[in-house]
Amino acid sequence: MKLLFERSTVGHKSELLPCCSTPAYELPADLLRAEAPALPQLAEIEVERHYTELAKQTFGVNDGFYPLGSCTMKYNPSINEDMAALPGFTKLHPLQPESTVQGALEAMYTATELLQEITGMDAMTLQPSAGAHGEYTGLLLIRAYHQSRGDTARTKIIVPDSAHGTNPASAVMAGFSVVNIPSDEKGCVDLDGLRKAVGPDTAGLMLTNPNTVGIFDPNILEITKIVHEAGGLCYYDGANLNAVMGMARPGDMGFDCIHLNLHKTFSTPHGGGGPGSGPVGCKAHLAQFLPTPVVVKTEEGYHLHAPEASLGRMRSLYGNFLVVIRALTYVLSLGKEGIPAASQGAVLNANYLMKKLADLGYDMAYPGFCMHEFVMDIGKLKKETGASAMEIAKRLLDYGMHPPTMYFPLIVHEALMVEPTETESKETLDAAAEVYGKILAEAKEDGQRLHDAPFNTPIGRPDEVGAARQPILRWTPAE
Ligand SMILES: *Cc1c(COP(=O)(O)O)cnc(C)c1O
Repeated sequence: MKLLFERSTVGHKSELLPCCSTPAYELPADLLRAEAPALPQLAEIEVERHYTELAKQTFGVNDGFYPLGSCTMKYNPSINEDMAALPGFTKLHPLQPESTVQGALEAMYTATELLQEITGMDAMTLQPSAGAHGEYTGLLLIRAYHQSRGDTARTKIIVPDSAHGTNPASAVMAGFSVVNIPSDEKGCVDLDGLRKAVGPDTAGLMLTNPNTVGIFDPNILEITKIVHEAGGLCYYDGANLNAVMGMARPGDMGFDCIHLNLHKTFSTPHGGGGPGSGPVGCKAHLAQFLPTPVVVKTEEGYHLHAPEASLGRMRSLYGNFLVVIRALTYVLSLGKEGIPAASQGAVLNANYLMKKLADLGYDMAYPGFCMHEFVMDIGKLKKETGASAMEIAKRLLDYGMHPPTMYFPLIVHEALMVEPTETESKETLDAAAEVYGKILAEAKEDGQRLHDAPFNTPIGRPDEVGAARQPILRWTPAE
């Protein structure tokens, strides 16, 4: 597809505006360009067609099934967008006096109260811009807690080998060293391994529950107890809370601190890189360290407040405010019944599709019940037919379906991780299963054919390593 610069034709433009009646102002000569800027010259319709063509080449939840595991690509109700677009929210200046933004502060306060209730936490910051930013914030809270007690020997964060890659990365950024512990054969924390790993140098444990293979750890209370008894704190990666929200609370499982991904569980469109929001909730013993400002309610109204031993700012201003408005709208519109119903739907859909795919002959990495997602192991199929997880993912594109997450978690080598989400119908899941069935048959017939897939997409197999190592981020005109 051509860029606007390549479509440009000298002299093409659209003159839709009347001539300007204001006299021209002569700029000082030293401020003028020597030659005209190299901007593309196009008529309005050419620009429209360009962007429409671009839009057709992308794939979103509004196009079709998008079961990208761990990413929660679900449908986001448009009422959230309506609320986030209200001029009363969009036309505010972030530095307006408090007395003139009481409604916005109330919205932030209410969102905090509701999310605290859902997670079982006592306090919360809305500042972090994404999940990983929330992890980093939460770990700084843990560090501040130990330091405030003079407990400076606690320098290690325990992370299971099934963790999302951001967990160890955030721990290192927050100044800790990472202790990896292996998972047991069910994908859960190995209790003996954990007991051996904890000690006087343990600052805390970071855990995703349900974990990245979609399993709720049955020993969760024992796990948090082991860490607490060793003097560490427990951090809950709550990016995928749609597996348990309204059903179980991380605060009740013994966790001291959590981040949420509002752009996953609480319904903001994402996938193009933002905007996101990763609020961090904590128990009372960490509240004094929260980033500043937090919203507090007094008799005179809502105020921005700096907690006593605050970490300071984690980003500018108040976080991605309109993402918080979408989450608030989502929680209020679902209500007390809708919140647990959403997680039940996510779990039911995942189990339904897992069973259908298992019956077709796909191997599951961890058979049994799953939570909101499940992991297939394509290893055996690859040995038998040559068709890898990548091959299957590429072929799915031809059927108008987004592939699942590939090669994650790392503990399953040929992993395909499927998260259907609660917003898909039984018909969509049945249709997806049919496609997976066809691809399995194709693989068994001629595994090599899948090497050439996809056949119907604008781009087939980009050089991903090259793109990551030597990204070309600027267009340069041909000589
Ligand atoms: C998505 C995700 C993250 C990271 O969230 P970002 O907003 O992409 O930074 C962390 N942990 C888990 C389990 C996730 O699924």
